[in-house]
Amino acid sequence: MSDCDFCVRIEQGEVIEQSTLAVAFADAFPISPGHTLVVSKRHEPDFFALSDMEQAALWVIALRARDRIMADHAPTGFNVAINVGADAGQTVDHAHLHIVPRYAGDVDDPRGGVRWVIPEHARYWD
Ligand code: AMP
Ligand code: ZN
Repeated sequence: MSDCDFCVRIEQGEVIEQSTLAVAFADAFPISPGHTLVVSKRHEPDFFALSDMEQAALWVIALRARDRIMADHAPTGFNVAINVGADAGQTVDHAHLHIVPRYAGDVDDPRGGVRWVIPEHARYWD
């Protein structure tokens, strides 16, 4: 068995969406209700090293995951993000895209969204 948690999930079929090249499953430590990961079937740490076909397949599964999240949770927004490399915060070395549903009032001021990866530069509007 693989020593990669995501490969193990894929091998065991613990997924909520799948195609020949990509899968989706719930994030085990969700930022918000419905937080979903869209993951390449092939073990490759670097999202940008995936083939064009694999990247496109991730997006097709992302759209399906989005429809499922809308039906189950009715969020009012989304953050969609990919961490590429440890310096960008990637902690699982198997390429994946985060779909993070957002809900009105879930934080005091949501302005900036993914700009908060570097908090001191998030507030460009001040
Ligand atoms: P990243 O930091 O972009 O590599 O994101 C890794 C994500 O994987 C985090 O949001 C974790 O909560 C999630 N995660 C870690 N281990 C598992 C697992 N075994 N199954 C599902 N999600 C996981
Ligand atoms: Zn893997």
